[in-house]
Amino acid sequence: MLLYTMQDNSTLVIKNPANDEIIATLPKETEAGLQTILQNLRQGQKNWSQRTVQDRLDCIVKFGELILENKQELAAILTQETGKPITQSLNEIQGAQNRIVHLQANAIQWLSEESLVETGPTLEKIVYEPLGVIANISAWNFPYNVGFNVFLYALVAGNAVLYKPSEYAALTGLQFEKYLHEAGIPTDVFRCVIGDGRLGQQILEAPMDGYFFTGSYATGLHIAKAVAHKLVPLQLELGGKDALYVSDDVVDVKQAAISAAEGAFYNNGQSCCAVERIYVSDKIYEQFVADFVTEVKSYVVGDPTDIKTFIGPLTRQPQTALLNEQVADALDKGAQLKLGGKEIAGQGNFYYPTVLIECDNRMKVMQEESFGPIIGIQKVSSDEEAIACMQDTEYGLTAAVFSANEQRAMRILKEMNTGTVYWNCCDRVSPNVPWSGRKKSGLGATLSIQGIRAFVQPKAYHLRKL
Ligand code: NAD
Repeated sequence: MLLYTMQDNSTLVIKNPANDEIIATLPKETEAGLQTILQNLRQGQKNWSQRTVQDRLDCIVKFGELILENKQELAAILTQETGKPITQSLNEIQGAQNRIVHLQANAIQWLSEESLVETGPTLEKIVYEPLGVIANISAWNFPYNVGFNVFLYALVAGNAVLYKPSEYAALTGLQFEKYLHEAGIPTDVFRCVIGDGRLGQQILEAPMDGYFFTGSYATGLHIAKAVAHKLVPLQLELGGKDALYVSDDVVDVKQAAISAAEGAFYNNGQSCCAVERIYVSDKIYEQFVADFVTEVKSYVVGDPTDIKTFIGPLTRQPQTALLNEQVADALDKGAQLKLGGKEIAGQGNFYYPTVLIECDNRMKVMQEESFGPIIGIQKVSSDEEAIACMQDTEYGLTAAVFSANEQRAMRILKEMNTGTVYWNCCDRVSPNVPWSGRKKSGLGATLSIQGIRAFVQPKAYHLRKL
């Protein structure tokens, strides 16, 4: 299990995964520096929590405006450090704004005190108080989306935030800090600290009032064990092995194949809710596979700064070995390789978009998170077989059904032990509904009313006038 992801020295070297060039060398936060930051945050949080929700919201709205004003430069930074194709970087920055719209519409209502008993001898009400100083240890694949899900909601709720971006999205993390401060969030209320897993470990040992983590199951489990004795809120947004079932009654098989391929290959498959395995009715299997392969062949693979590119490099080089292992294991167990199956020679961490068919659930590609441009497709002969295959997983993030029949789809989706289910769509997150994983996909929820209440603690008042 890889818990420390880069060598231990005093600087963090940031490389462009498209060409292996060093783009920045950042000083890592020291242990003493971390202690000072935490003392300041503790002080800053007291004043921040005294300000009104509206006042805090105003800063977040201003932050959103600054992000949009600077989105070209911010997208270029994101593309340079993660390899995300530039159009997808711009989409992410634009799309993440819906969290701010959601907060504007709802935060005041959801954070206001609630009177439950207003007459009689004893009045009863709930007041929602911030947790205090919380840690947000984050991932690199969608730093805007997963970052905003945590630190914007935490700040509006009156907390101070120690934000540790992934070592693969550190430059973007520093931009968040810059624009939050420029938008009026005090410097002792939000801080971004730079480092790898060792800094993460120091944060686990520090006296935080809550831990909000997005990343892999292995690190999430480690964090859960390390902080259990503190009995502070812990939230884990972890990986997935998200299944899609294409039933025999889909109106347009080609369109289903196009949507499924996008769900699998968007952001190079490096999405927590990417489609990671596909089950297709035997009645449409041949046509679906043909359409799917045609669609994937049309993807432009290459320079992520080119607006035509759909597939850039993998962000993390070690992922290629995992993908090669999944391909070898699948072929060994009887799968057929229709496309790709290996890294692209030359500079950068490029991997051919890979399609495996005739798969089954004994294969690693159908069981272990791939987090790359690879998909396994399996033929099924009934809804019952599809349900059994989809449910045969240690993860529980999302599941999707493509079908013309709503009742049929609902019957299947009801069986899924996942935090999110989709009918005729996939790979989608909305601030209106909770984002949560079950089993190895996590603990707790972000977004929606649950996602803001995660950053407050209720205080029950029993008030009797004598
Ligand atoms: P990761 O677990 O390698 O790293 C995540 C963060 O943990 C990084 O900031 C890293 O520095 C830190 N870390 C590493 N070791 C640590 C330690 N010992 N103590 C404390 N912190 C430590 O994950 P990643 O590669 O950045 O992200 C990819 C994973 O995240 C995938 O599994 C993906 O599915 C998942 N993810 C889930 C969601 C979701 O909403 N469910 C969203 C995005 C990504």
